[in-house]
Amino acid sequence: MSATRRMPHAVIPFRAAPPGRCAWRAVIAGLALLLTLAAHAERYIYVDAHGNRLEVDTAVPGYWPATPKAAIEHVTDTRIGFEIVYRDVIEGTRRGFDDPSRGAARRALVTEVLRYVDEVLNEDGAVRIEFDESLLSGSGYLAAASAFFRPVPGYRNGAAFQHITTGEPKDPNLPDMLIRVNFGHTWNETLATPTTSQYDLFSVLLHEVGHGLGILSLAIDEDAESRIAPGVYSVWDWLMETGNGNTCWDEMQPVFVGLPQYLLGQDNGVLLIGAAALTVHGQGPRVYAPNPFRQGSSLSHFAPSLSGDAVMQPSIPRGRARRAYLPVEKATLYDLGYTNIELGVELPEDLGPEPGPKPAPIPWANPESLPAFRVPFFQHEDE
Ligand SMILES: [Zn+2]
Repeated sequence: MSATRRMPHAVIPFRAAPPGRCAWRAVIAGLALLLTLAAHAERYIYVDAHGNRLEVDTAVPGYWPATPKAAIEHVTDTRIGFEIVYRDVIEGTRRGFDDPSRGAARRALVTEVLRYVDEVLNEDGAVRIEFDESLLSGSGYLAAASAFFRPVPGYRNGAAFQHITTGEPKDPNLPDMLIRVNFGHTWNETLATPTTSQYDLFSVLLHEVGHGLGILSLAIDEDAESRIAPGVYSVWDWLMETGNGNTCWDEMQPVFVGLPQYLLGQDNGVLLIGAAALTVHGQGPRVYAPNPFRQGSSLSHFAPSLSGDAVMQPSIPRGRARRAYLPVEKATLYDLGYTNIELGVELPEDLGPEPGPKPAPIPWANPESLPAFRVPFFQHEDE
């Protein structure tokens, strides 16, 4: 079938070019990091997911931030309320985003990226983005992003989408996306043009945020089992069709109805059939679907053939900046459900169907549902 699909509502580090090995990790997320004010005015207590408590004397904080506020930054001049948590800072690693000489500039660059995302999305919800403790290896992936999904069957974009577009209260202790940066690589950490030896941090952060917003597949491999739980797929998955017009996921039920070879690109490739992207791009934008399947990379990016400037392609070379989503990328976000995006084109009146039946809502913040919070948390890592 060739009908268009649109989503009303619904990861991944960036690999250095040339593409290397990719790794996905499915992890149970219990790593809520709580920051709790102690009764003492001059002490506060950190509590991690295991219930370990650390009391910090604000007069002698050591490597810990001297005030709890220092652990969470808020971007205040945007429509979307961004809460940014830097674990480097919370844990006082003095590396990465807590680096004594470069940490502040790195955090400022994150804010610049989010300001751009705010302008594009034109929404007024709130989202919490956590930066996991930075890597310093200088090998492997440049950065990784994770998105959170409830283990309830359906087509969805994940927690960030839900909180950005609905303003629904967040669970105060869980991030909506989790990003990890490998500062061991050589980075351009400014808005200047990267040199030929530098990866562009702005571009890579923007890429990771794109995964967190919902640009990712939940299919483990070409057999399309869900990474999260049976029947849990992304809206991005739902939009897929092969180049020969064969459906990959059922329109109504969250079920893979294609053949494995479809997801290996062997039916004339894989493309997205969202109405906005079709309108803006003239045809369905191609999805990266190599054979063999590349864990962490396949199906969660646009094909490099789409454009050398696409932010959401599987890798980025040194010296290259991609600091703005292409019109077709914005249109795809629109098709995922970010319908306040200004596309500058007239869309057809009938945008086609929406993804199948919506599952019964589960409150994110109900403490009694905490076990359900241990949603598989996946890290989609390209290198
Ligand atoms: Zn990626």
